[in-house]
Amino acid sequence: MTTPDKKLSLETLASLCKRRGFIYPSSEIYGGLNGFWDYGPLGSELKRNLKDIWWASMTRFRDDVVGLDATIIMHPAIWKASGHADGFADPMVDCKACKKRFRADQLCEEQGKVLGKEGSGFSLPAGVTCSACGSKDLTEPRAFNLMFKSFVGPVEDASSTVFLRPETAQAIFTQFKNILDTCRQSVPFGVAQMGKSFRNEINPRNYTFRSREFEQMELEFFIRPDEAVELIHGRVITLADNPDLAGEPQPAWGWEVWHKYWVAQRIAWYQAVGLPAASLVEYWQGHEELAHYARACVDIQYAFPFGIQELEGIAARSDFDLSQHQTHSGKSQEVFDEPLKLAAAKLDAPARDAFTATVAARWEAAGKSAEAARVFCLKLFEGRYIPHVIEPSAGSDRLVLAILCNAYVEEWVPDGKTEGAVTMPGEPGKQPPKGYEARTVLRFSPRIAPLKIAVFPLLKNKPELVAKARSIYNTLRKRWMCFWDETGAIGRRYRRQDEAGTPFCITVDFDTLTADTVTLRNRDSMKQVRIPVSQLVQELEQRLDQPTLPLDA
Ligand code: ATP
Repeated sequence: MTTPDKKLSLETLASLCKRRGFIYPSSEIYGGLNGFWDYGPLGSELKRNLKDIWWASMTRFRDDVVGLDATIIMHPAIWKASGHADGFADPMVDCKACKKRFRADQLCEEQGKVLGKEGSGFSLPAGVTCSACGSKDLTEPRAFNLMFKSFVGPVEDASSTVFLRPETAQAIFTQFKNILDTCRQSVPFGVAQMGKSFRNEINPRNYTFRSREFEQMELEFFIRPDEAVELIHGRVITLADNPDLAGEPQPAWGWEVWHKYWVAQRIAWYQAVGLPAASLVEYWQGHEELAHYARACVDIQYAFPFGIQELEGIAARSDFDLSQHQTHSGKSQEVFDEPLKLAAAKLDAPARDAFTATVAARWEAAGKSAEAARVFCLKLFEGRYIPHVIEPSAGSDRLVLAILCNAYVEEWVPDGKTEGAVTMPGEPGKQPPKGYEARTVLRFSPRIAPLKIAVFPLLKNKPELVAKARSIYNTLRKRWMCFWDETGAIGRRYRRQDEAGTPFCITVDFDTLTADTVTLRNRDSMKQVRIPVSQLVQELEQRLDQPTLPLDA
């Protein structure tokens, strides 16, 4: 059973992150701005490494996904079509006594209650109180749209109103036809995008977990509707057929197999960047939790110290998004699928009628119109349809937070003066026993560590040592993110790098000058080995660049 690490407090983590330059409160010298965070020198490297691996695993290592980098401000009609202008709202309540504001659903959940829904409105169940002051005097929940508003041009009126995007996905849908026409892909294929998103969250909290400005990494993977697969391949492979999800995708896969495939891919990806399988939860949303257009949705969750919470949502969204944009823009979002047209041409009229009748019956049973099914089938016979989509939607800030929580370890290590002492887990806030000293270490996997190698001359006042160390540093920094440190005792320098999560430290000492060897110190084991300078690059290559990610295959 996955349980959050209750020992690590977010305050302890935030303090380390600030001290070592991972994350700072935004605008701190002016008192900060709630829900906004800045990534410092190490944090920006860590986040970039994670985003680079996501981008490479989606686009470079796959033949069937291409990239997009669209604007943050887009035509406001997009948000009408997507439903965000009217529906992207959270229920908000205010405490009349202390004036604190809460998200009504979260307040209810914290107090073991469920927010009532009445039509498009909400109602607070009895007994809910303000979690700040305990007052029962709360306002009724009101819907609050989460999109940030701005204006394009000098006049601030309704016609110039625009919104900062609350997700990156919509640009993928609105550029779908351009991408299809220009990139030599055909369905099934995907479009990946990462970038900033903005949500005016009512209650930003849990450090960076719920921010008002954050980054998303989203994929829209377009697939054929199952009926098209059936016409082309004579059957649709379902989960009941036990498809090999780790193998190559198969042309006859139906939507539920594609959906499960992406869940499996994404779970494997999180493990590859260092989150242990036991810390991840695959939560399948119940039917009543699904959006009306969604056929299935899985949240990939991580056991954060404050609870098991979502890192990524993977939804099977049918043809909802492209259909909405077709209706609102008046521009066709259909694709022409040659193999489908050829397959349909082989059917005689009675076979087409029988196919249409089966589809109409299925749609009716699912509460959809039989007439719409007949129009859909006529289009299919011409080789045309609006693609369906599977959407793995992840947040890079939540991933950075999960990686930091997972990497954080406090240990009590022997002080070197006590015979037979071995390293043991430390207890945050407590002093180690006699003969031990405490160390904090971030155990990042080398692939994502912000700094890969630190290089130290043993003494900074010996020019021969500094010159030799500098030449090693200059060679290595061409390949890897390296750090130079010549100040303080060597032990102190090691501890600083442990807190930064640097996997290897190289020390240039007097033996280097005679034997041309250096010490290479491992962050996790703290063991040091002597290596000839001539073998350094090769050794580090093996330790740092091992293709441990299954995505590199
Ligand atoms: P939640 O229920 O936690 O508000 P959501 O289900 O609304 O999240 P999605 O709209 O599915 O989130 O967004 C996809 C991903 O974007 C989330 O899994 C998360 O990683 C990230 N994300 C969404 N909102 C935020 C936020 N306010 N701060 C940081 N990351 C976010």
